[in-house]
Amino acid sequence: MSFYYKLSSPTFLGNELAYSRQAIHSGMLATNGEFIDRFEEKFNKRLKTHQIVALNSGTSSLHLALVLLGVGKGDEVICQSFTFCASANPVIYLGAKPIFVDSESDTWNISPELLEDAILNRLANGKKPKAIVLVHLFGMPAKMNEILSIAKKYQIPVLEDAAEAVGSQYGNQYCGTLGDIGVFSFNGNKILSAGGGGALVSNSTALIQKAKYLSTQAREDLPYYQHLEIGYNYKMNNLSAAIGLAQLEQLEGFVEKRRQINSTYRELLSNIPGISFQNEIKEARSNFWLTSILIDEKVTGFSNDQLRISLMKNGIESRFLWKPLHLQPVFKEIQFFGGSVSQNLFYKGICLPSSTDLNYDDQEKIVEILFKELAKTF
Ligand SMILES: *Cc1c(COP(=O)(O)O)cnc(C)c1O
Repeated sequence: MSFYYKLSSPTFLGNELAYSRQAIHSGMLATNGEFIDRFEEKFNKRLKTHQIVALNSGTSSLHLALVLLGVGKGDEVICQSFTFCASANPVIYLGAKPIFVDSESDTWNISPELLEDAILNRLANGKKPKAIVLVHLFGMPAKMNEILSIAKKYQIPVLEDAAEAVGSQYGNQYCGTLGDIGVFSFNGNKILSAGGGGALVSNSTALIQKAKYLSTQAREDLPYYQHLEIGYNYKMNNLSAAIGLAQLEQLEGFVEKRRQINSTYRELLSNIPGISFQNEIKEARSNFWLTSILIDEKVTGFSNDQLRISLMKNGIESRFLWKPLHLQPVFKEIQFFGGSVSQNLFYKGICLPSSTDLNYDDQEKIVEILFKELAKTF
């Protein structure tokens, strides 16, 4: 199915082609090259206190972050349940066990109260969690003040999965720079696309050095290939970095545009009973990667799935919210702390087209389909 309005298609209107051409002409397409350095430097300037290492996916970045936090066989890692599978899969890669925690209903991210319940339960069972993985879902910053103070109280490191939250802010800091390690994704439909890619973020130069070393096969600095440790082939390549750099030059504009799209949806859908939005708490500035709404079928008379199908018939792509990981067949044995918050979000929610090239008229057309659904029921 090809859609006329996509959920989130990347926009390449800057230096993407020029830089890609330069990268190809340089003959350096592997994991060394000018654009990797420029991409990392430009990011570092923007993050100020923190540095990144550019890697080849958000998933590999999460995997490497867990390795750096010392997660290994038999360990437990607390993880937000309401997220994409890539937040938890790397825990399994390492032979460790995720413990899933439900969301709160403002930001839709991990509930601080339930997080503390989970920690206390695991401590009472003699298992101190090795890390906490939280997510800024659809770009929306989680309740970081509360989460960080709990993490500090029990001395557990925080891994921020900011894969969807590149450019989002909490207070005066960027998401990804609030926890012990942060992770970004630059895959095809994220707000900043390098085709594929990711990054690991930290304020520790030693940790960044170690991440660079492990992500390039843990090769010693010798004229021959010498290895003291098992490494990974996780570094970003120079061609992706060329595209990523061009995109990074436009990130501010992308965030502004997606925030605009979100406020237009809010305006067009205001005063419609049964429709609600994900809430930005006062410290937060979301990049609104995907604008998502909840549909209360009892009030509107139509469900998220009915809307999804009507949109699809009109060439408009939409998507269910992430199905919580504790409800995934593959994770059915995993312990879960919480109730039905994320489950209800999944049942009621839908992500609307949020591409940066969407304009007001496009959004009116999209919302028109929703009004037609409403009209059927009255
Ligand atoms: C996209 C995404 C990832 C994985 O990133 P990739 O670059 O696709 O590997 C991880 N976590 C979340 C929440 C994501 O949305």
